[in-house]
Amino acid sequence: MTDMNLVRSPARSRVGLAEAVVDLSVVRDNVQTIYKRLRPGTEVLAVVKADAFGHGAVQVARAAVEAGATWLGVARADEALQLRAAGLTVPILTWLYDATELVLLADIDVSVSTVSELNQVVSAPNVHNVQLKLDTGLHRGGSAPDQWIELTRAAAHYEALGAVRVRGIWSHLSHGDELDASHSRRQLELLRTGVTLARRAGLSPEVVHLANSSGAITLDAPDCNLVRIGAALFGIDEVDAGVRSPMRLVTKVAQVRRIRAGEGVSYGHDYTAPRDTTIALIPLGYADGIPRIAAGQASVLCRGVRMPVLGRITMDQFVVDAGELALEPGQPVTVFGDGSDGEPTAADWADWAGTIPHEIYCGLGARVPRRYVEGVQR
Ligand SMILES: *Cc1c(COP(=O)(O)O)cnc(C)c1O
Repeated sequence: MTDMNLVRSPARSRVGLAEAVVDLSVVRDNVQTIYKRLRPGTEVLAVVKADAFGHGAVQVARAAVEAGATWLGVARADEALQLRAAGLTVPILTWLYDATELVLLADIDVSVSTVSELNQVVSAPNVHNVQLKLDTGLHRGGSAPDQWIELTRAAAHYEALGAVRVRGIWSHLSHGDELDASHSRRQLELLRTGVTLARRAGLSPEVVHLANSSGAITLDAPDCNLVRIGAALFGIDEVDAGVRSPMRLVTKVAQVRRIRAGEGVSYGHDYTAPRDTTIALIPLGYADGIPRIAAGQASVLCRGVRMPVLGRITMDQFVVDAGELALEPGQPVTVFGDGSDGEPTAADWADWAGTIPHEIYCGLGARVPRRYVEGVQR
């Protein structure tokens, strides 16, 4: 089913100019790794927003569900609909949508933060599952604490009328990527109070959730029975969770040539060769998500050697220094992977670009096809 030697064997390579190879067995392993760290009874909602951080929403969602995720979460309505259209039947939560989209979201849980949002949901033609979101400190959406009682009472009123079903109560961490959980614990306290008030108003939520990937590891939250796992699915590991990166961005050398000492490379000649050297053209650029700002520090792996990027990264291509190494056009190049063969990781690219690996993955362009494999042999 899969080409096991894609990365190593140019002869059997199915790479066009470049591709992102996603090992779905690693996604499953990551879900199981997280499960082992959770309290029994806590379930995983796999966050596959933004096309699963560029990895492919449908494929990643299927793999996550196969590995035991019982919920899916997305930012937007159309992302939820894409999952349903692909035949995924587990419950889905979406937290950003427009009132005009509600008619399409009949079997998608929608997040509600205000009474006016609740009224929009109630006015929509179908009866919706909603999850009430409390702001416990992130201050990026959610109900203000002083409006929570009003919101929960209104929701209980509508629920009693059969106009809506309140399936969950949730919040989001502001310091969820930190090892120190003291801030998260304060947020958990506030959520606990919010749940108590909601029950007092007459609600009985099936799910209560707060933690993202890192929070799921660092915060012990007996009040919650669901965690929302995004980054960890993709091996982005802020807290030593033990997850691995499923994606390998591979390309191949497009051209090889010698240049002389003193010759400049790429636009503006930001780089001038101090000695004669061999340079290789790599057919990826910032339109594909290779961050232009990384040029001063970045390198790629080719023939087992790190080759530094020379001069500016342009829209479609950049140049690397092969030194005295013999190279042929077509030679496989790894731009990033899990690092196990000495290649850079997405986290390295993020460091070079002054950002986080999430942005490297999400920035991967539409010109880079994604290909799915099961357990690439190294
Ligand atoms: C993106 C997102 C998550 C996932 O967070 P990770 O740190 O990637 O695990 C969880 N909840 C919400 C509301 C999000 O927007």
